[in-house]
Amino acid sequence: MGADRKYQVGILGATGMVGQWFIRLLENHPQFTVTALAASDRSQGKTYGQACAWRLPGGMPSYVRSMVIHPPHPPLDCEIIFSSLPADIAKKSEAAFAEAGYPVISNSSAFRMEPAVPLLIPEVNPDHLGLLDIQLREPGSNGGFLVTNPNCSTIVLTLALAPLQVKFGIEAVAATTLQAISGAGYPGVASLDITDNVLPFIEHEEEKIQQETRKILGLYRGDRVEDAPMLVSAQCHRVNVSDGHTVAVRVKLARPAELGELRNAFETFTGVPQSLGLFSAPSRPLIVRDEPDRPQPRLDRDAGRGMSVSVGRIARDAVLDYRFVALGHNVVRGAAGAAILNGELLIATGWLGKERKMKGSLADSSR
Ligand code: NAP
Repeated sequence: MGADRKYQVGILGATGMVGQWFIRLLENHPQFTVTALAASDRSQGKTYGQACAWRLPGGMPSYVRSMVIHPPHPPLDCEIIFSSLPADIAKKSEAAFAEAGYPVISNSSAFRMEPAVPLLIPEVNPDHLGLLDIQLREPGSNGGFLVTNPNCSTIVLTLALAPLQVKFGIEAVAATTLQAISGAGYPGVASLDITDNVLPFIEHEEEKIQQETRKILGLYRGDRVEDAPMLVSAQCHRVNVSDGHTVAVRVKLARPAELGELRNAFETFTGVPQSLGLFSAPSRPLIVRDEPDRPQPRLDRDAGRGMSVSVGRIARDAVLDYRFVALGHNVVRGAAGAAILNGELLIATGWLGKERKMKGSLADSSR
């Protein structure tokens, strides 16, 4: 399966909010070792210790302190790219790495909606990795490819919707987000804007949730993904919380279901990462909270080492069928941890390294 060696990885956007989480989560990773870092010309040529204003508790890991920061262009001294660049920069940079033959695992929105690019949540749509065959067959392909993880709120929402879609079908979703400040990167939102306040606008966020959810829950048809035929409406807010996106959700189901069936669908939900025992996979992707005042960002964002989504307030709804609240760590499950789990799935299913199969390996192993 190719899981018995360490892959050398480069991190693009290594000094940013997501980049710092990459560096922390990869410190003792059994399958990845960080060998290259890249960021803007503000940081290039400096050591990571000089360039990075470390913002995570616990201090900067020593392994990275003296590494020198490079421009985000190939070549880089690594086999795989984890990217956390702003979308406009990612467009050129990630494409250049993929064209140069690197597998690129990206957090940015630049390529998420490209038809041949998997928009991956390993528990939800691992079969969508079959799209990589299309990228690998393109004329001039060097064996590089792009895999993306969804927007941070989309991941929280879609992980919670997935078991409902499988068991009952979903006709419509109305989602209202309460998004943490760290979701805007560093330095992000001005303190005078967010203190004692709620901002009812996050640029492009509502469109991303509406489009990405339908692609992720869509059907892989062998040569394309057919969007799930559900209505998705999103309203997004930035709130004065450091980490952890909350999503209040209402759903209209395709077939009637009892409240207990819904709760059971959330609680028993599991996927390929759990059955393969992937390193970053939480034992339970969804954790049901029955207390009337949960989930809460401060209490629940670190569930499953930040990789579980907590679901609570499950109840019948007077307008659509059911309502619930989902919460997840936006920079772990919503960004760096999501990309690392994608990388682990790529290894386990043979898409990375010499073991890569050119046809259908994932579709065969996960369906
Ligand atoms: P951030 O804190 O602003 O970090 C941006 C990173 O990109 C920094 O390392 C920065 O380097 C680098 N960068 C900026 N301009 C550059 C340029 N012109 N050339 C090369 N590198 C450049 O942002 P973030 O929150 O980490 O987000 C990074 C990406 O992940 C974005 O696409 C974002 O949408 C996505 N994302 C973020 C979250 C989240 O919760 N924060 C969740 C999901 C997805 P310097 O330090 O040198 O400026």
